[in-house]
Amino acid sequence: MTNSNKSKQAGWNLDNSYSRLPGSFFSVQKPSPVESPELVVLNVEVAEELGLDVDIVKNAAEVFAGNELPEGSEPIAQAYAGHQFGHFNMLGDGRAVLLGEQITPQGERVDIQLKGAGRTPYSRGGDGRAALGPMLREYIISEAMDALGIPTTRSLAVVTTGEGIIRETDLPGAVLVRAAQSHIRVGTFQFAANFTEKEDLKALADYTIERHYPELEEEENPYLSLLEEVISRQAKLISQWQMVGFIHGVMNTDNMAISGETIDYGPCAFMDAFDPSTVFSSIDRQGRYAYGNQPPIAGWNLARFAETLLPLLHEDEETGLKMAQEAISEFPKRFHSEWMAGMRAKLGLFNEEAQDKELIDILLSKMHEYGADYTNTFAALTFDQPEKTDLYGKPEFDRWYAIWKERQERQDETAEEAHELMKKNNPAVIPRNFRVEEALEAAVEEGDYSVMERLLDVLIEPYAHSPGQEEYAKLPPDPDEPYQTFCGT
Ligand code: AMP
Ligand code: MG
Repeated sequence: MTNSNKSKQAGWNLDNSYSRLPGSFFSVQKPSPVESPELVVLNVEVAEELGLDVDIVKNAAEVFAGNELPEGSEPIAQAYAGHQFGHFNMLGDGRAVLLGEQITPQGERVDIQLKGAGRTPYSRGGDGRAALGPMLREYIISEAMDALGIPTTRSLAVVTTGEGIIRETDLPGAVLVRAAQSHIRVGTFQFAANFTEKEDLKALADYTIERHYPELEEEENPYLSLLEEVISRQAKLISQWQMVGFIHGVMNTDNMAISGETIDYGPCAFMDAFDPSTVFSSIDRQGRYAYGNQPPIAGWNLARFAETLLPLLHEDEETGLKMAQEAISEFPKRFHSEWMAGMRAKLGLFNEEAQDKELIDILLSKMHEYGADYTNTFAALTFDQPEKTDLYGKPEFDRWYAIWKERQERQDETAEEAHELMKKNNPAVIPRNFRVEEALEAAVEEGDYSVMERLLDVLIEPYAHSPGQEEYAKLPPDPDEPYQTFCGT
C-alpha cells in the first residue's frame, strides 16, 4: 500500500496553514528518527475526536515517533521568544516538531506536535529529546485537567524511542504526541514584535484572529478586540486553575497560549494543603510562580502581549498605549469576577450577596491556618460532612459553618440543588503528587502501565464522587515531606 493510502485509511487529514505565514515564523524541520519506537499509551478518545482509526493507529508507533510522516505533513519547528522568569530570550521549538494541523470530522483544526522529536535550529545547547517520565506526566496531568473541565492541550500518544537520553542519569527517551488548538503563544507575538517587520506581526495577528477568534474580524479594531478576548480567556483559565489548586510551575510568556488552553506541562502539580505560597518547582526559588501569584503573573504576561500589539492598535503611539493600558487594567477585575463566580459555585451559592467575599476569605484563611487539604475540605462541605474536614472543632469554624448554612438558606434554590452545584464544582479527586509519582515509577522503572491506567480511570471522572475514588482522595502517607518537581527535561 502507498503511504498516501495508508495515511488516508488511518484517518490523517493534514493541512499546514502555519507554514503559509512569513518564513521567519518557522523552520522546515523533519523529526529525527529514533531507534525502535514502541507505543506505550494511546488516547482512544482523542484519536476518535481527531478522526483517526484506532485499530490502525494503535500500530502507528513509527508515525508517532516521527520515523514515518503521514501524507500531507509538512513538518516545521516554530519560532518564538519569551520572558523566562522575567528575562527575555529567543526560544522556539527546541525539541518539538509540528507535523501539521489535523482537520477533524467536525471541521476543527488541531495542531499535531511531536514533543521530543530531535534537534531543531532552536535547540541551542539541548539534545532535542524528552524523557519518558515527564512525557507520561504531561499525559496524566493534561488528561486530568481536561476531565476537570479546564481548557488544555491534549495528549494523543506516548511512544518510547528505545534510546537512552543523558540527563543527571541515563533515562529512557520518549516522544509525546500533543494535540492543541494551536501552539501560538504570547512568546510568538514577542518574537514577531522583536525580530520581524510590522507586516509580519500583522500577518501573525490576522492569522490568529482567523484561527481562534473569527468573530472579531468584523470588529472596528480587531487587534484591540483580540487583546480583550485573550485577556478574558486567560482570566477564566487562571480562575479555573485556582479553583482546583493547579500550579503550572513555569508561567513564562512562551508557556501562555493565545487560544486560552493550558500548555507546556513541566514542573506543574496540584496543591494539597491550602497555602497560597505553595511552589513545587525546584527552580522557582523565589516563588515567582507560586499558587497565589498565578493571577498577577498572568496579568504581567498579558501586559507583555499587549506591548507586542502596540504598532497594530493605533497609528498614534500614545493612543495605542492608552488602549492597551485600559485593556490590561480589565484583567484583575475580570479575574476577580471569574474567581468569585467559581468560589460561589464551590460553596453552592447561586446568587450574589455583598458578604460573599468575606465568607470565602474566612474559609480560605482558616484552611491556611490549619493546613486543611484544599480538595478534601470542599468535598466534605459538598456532602455536608464538616466533621471530615481538618477545620472541625477549630475556633470559629462552627460560626463560619452556621453563617454559610444560613447564607444557603436565604437563596431560592433548595439544599439538594446547592449540593448538586457543589458536586459539579468540587472534584472528588485530583492527581495527587504521590499518586502521579507512583504511576510514573511503575511505568518507567518496571514497564508496568497498569498503575497509570488505574489512576487515569479515576481521574477521568473527577466529579463522579463514586466509592471507587475514595482511595485516591486520600493524602500521601508522609505529607510533611516537601514535594519537588523538575523542569520537563
Ligand atoms: P520548556 O521549559 O519546555 O517550556 O522549554 C523552554 C525552551 O527550551 C523551549 O524553547 C524548548 O524548546 C527548549 N528546550 C527544552 N528542552 C530541550 C531539549 N532537551 N533540547 C532542546 N531544546 C529544549
Ligand atoms: Mg515551553
